[in-house]
Order: sequence, then structure tokens, then C-alpha cells
Amino acid sequence: MAWKRIHVRCTPEQPGHEIATAWLAEAGCSMFEDTPQGLTAYGQAEEIDGGLLATIERDLAPLGLSEWRISEVEDENWNARWESDYPEVEVGRDVRISAPFHHRSDSGGFAHQITIQPRMAFGTGHHGTTAGILAEMAGMDWTGQRILDMGCGSGVLGIYAAMRGAAEVLFVDIDAWSVRNTLENLELNGFGQNGRFEVREGGVSVLGSADEGRFDVVIANINRNILMEDMEHYSRVARVEATLMLSGFMAPDVPLLETRAEACGWAGPAVRNEGEWRVLTLRR
Ligand code: SAH
Repeated sequence: MAWKRIHVRCTPEQPGHEIATAWLAEAGCSMFEDTPQGLTAYGQAEEIDGGLLATIERDLAPLGLSEWRISEVEDENWNARWESDYPEVEVGRDVRISAPFHHRSDSGGFAHQITIQPRMAFGTGHHGTTAGILAEMAGMDWTGQRILDMGCGSGVLGIYAAMRGAAEVLFVDIDAWSVRNTLENLELNGFGQNGRFEVREGGVSVLGSADEGRFDVVIANINRNILMEDMEHYSRVARVEATLMLSGFMAPDVPLLETRAEACGWAGPAVRNEGEWRVLTLRR
């Protein structure tokens, strides 16, 4: 598989690099490195839209473009290097998360095998918040449950709930790349988009009146500020008796989130520590 490398430098760096990242993603790049020497994007040669690259170069000029280089990345070695640097994630003996290039056709002694295609979406399992929620989920019963996976990223949490027998999962993310990656990962794990699963792009505004009181479990791994702001909406779409799982924050934010959750009617927070990250599980 041939890859291309696009090296970009803008002076000043921002907003040029941020805009370049978005445009290059659109042009087919799937990996990005931001270094003091500039922004480097990588993509599979056959996925890169050369015409769009020319447009991007031109449109970046007014944003201070000072370097623009496109080169071929030699060889499989490069792929092999990146793939060998990309470990699988194991959550106890319950779940293993692999990428397609790990070629896991069986569960290898794990109760569940999840395949996640690494793209521009959060949720490969390598982050403590994802692993922490999965570990917490491992001890819960998901049979027949209706789940909201808010800020789904790769879709990993909702996919795990589906494997554990959840009846319905609604995946929501404000980021178009995440929506795409969730759809891709649903397919990869044998769940096409059907009545049980739905993926919506947006924030709480895409939770309509038909969703009110619908979910047995709401999971949101986002960040303190968004959780604080949106918690009342998570509560609105949760059933009267439900579970709320939150992550994306560290120890100092726990009291704040607990107080907010209590104001929304949630109680009995269990706190899991995953390195510096915290996972809160609340019930009502
Ligand atoms: N659920 C995955 C990804 C978590 S990362 C996991 O646990 O690994 C957080 C995700 O929330 C990102 O994909 C981001 O795009 C999304 N996000 C950020 N703000 C949001 C909002 N207001 N509403 C919904 N999703 C949001």
C-alpha cells in the first residue's frame, strides 16, 4: 500500500494548521503530526484527491503558507512500522480491541473481540477514559438495554454494549469523521445500520422529543464543560430508572460533576480511577 506525505507550514501556525488539517482530512489524509517543523499529513495514495490538494495549496496561501511539499512514503515498511506501533487494547479478559490489520478472526480467549478501524476519530481504546468505561461496562448487564452513546467517536462503547446484548444503541457525535467511523466500525463488527442502531451527527439538539425517557443507559465520555452543560439533556432522554456513565475528566472535577448530576436527579456515584482519569457511574 502506497502512502503520501503532505508537509505544510504556515506562519503564523494558526489558524493555518488547523484549517489545513480539516481540508487535508477532506482530501483523504487519515493521519496528522503537528511538530515544531510544521504539520505533516499522511494518507493512502489511492484515497488522496490530487485536485483537491491543488485547491488547498492555493487557498492556504492567504493563511501564510510558507512550505508545501508532497512526497511518496516509501513502502510497506512504513505501514509495518505504524502497525507495529499500534498495540491492541485488552480490558481484563472481557474485551480486546484490535485494528483490522491485526487480523483477529477469533476472540483469542477474550469474551468479546471488537475491531476498530483507526481514523480521525477518538475511541481506539488506547485512552484511559475509553478503557475505564469499558472496564466499568464489563461488570454490568446489557441484555435488552437501550443505550445512548453520546460523543461516540469510533463507536467503541456502543458497539461493546451491542455485543453484550443491548436492544438499541443511538450513537451521537458532533464530528462528521466520528459519525463516518462509527458507521464503518458497526459494519466491521457485523452490525449494519438497522433498526437497532442509529448514528446521528450533532449534539444534544439532535435528541428530539421522541427520545425523551427512552434510554436505560446514557454514556458520555466527552469533557467536563460539555458534560456540565448537557447533563440535563442526558437526564431528559434517560428513563425514570436509568444509569448515567460519565468520563473525560480528572479527579478535581469529580465533585462538580457529582453536584450537577445530583441536581439532575442522579445518585450513588461510583468512581473508577483509570490513571489520572475518572469514570462516574450514577443511577436513579
Ligand atoms: N466514546 C468514545 C469517544 C470519546 S471522545 C470513547 O469513549 O472512546 C469524545 C467525543 O465527543 C469526540 O468524538 C467528539 O467529537 C465528541 N463531542 C464533543 N463535543 C460533543 C457534544 N457537545 N455532543 C456530542 N459529541 C461531542
